[in-house]
Amino acid sequence: MRNEAPETMTGHCLCGAVRLSVAHPVREASACHCAMCRRWSGAAIWGFEAPAEAVTVQGPVETYRSSSFAERAWCRRCGTHLWIRDDGEGFDLTPGLFDDAADFVLTREVYADRAFDCVSLAGGHARVKRADYERDHPFVEDKP
Ligand SMILES: [Zn+2]
Ligand SMILES: [Zn+2]
Repeated sequence: MRNEAPETMTGHCLCGAVRLSVAHPVREASACHCAMCRRWSGAAIWGFEAPAEAVTVQGPVETYRSSSFAERAWCRRCGTHLWIRDDGEGFDLTPGLFDDAADFVLTREVYADRAFDCVSLAGGHARVKRADYERDHPFVEDKP
C-alpha cells in the first residue's frame, strides 16, 4: 500500500512520443468487456477516469469515433491505446501508460457477462452485466 500518492502522475506510450500527465489521479480502475473494447484491445480494456482539466497530453495522438458519442485514441507512431472519451466528458485513460498505476484498485467490471473465458478477474469488485449497463448508459455493442 502506497503511503503518499504523487500529486501528478506522468506516463507515456510504448515509443515515448506521447507524454501524458494526470493531476490527483483517483487510483481506481475499471475493466470493460464490451464487443468494441474486446476488439480494440485484444480481450478487455482497463481504464481510469480523470477530468479533462486534470489531464495534459503531448505528442502525435490519433483518434477514431468508435461510436456516435465517443472517441478512442492511440499513439500514431506505436499504436499504444491511450483513452476512450465520451463527448464533453473527462478521459478514461489506460492505466498501463503510467508506472505509478501499479497499485490501482479494480473497482468495476463492465459487460462482465460478456468476458472471454480467458479473461477472469478475481476479487470483490462490482460486476455490471450488459443489460444493466445498457439500461443506464448510451452504448454501441458492436460495429459492422
Ligand atoms: Zn508511441
Ligand atoms: Zn467497452
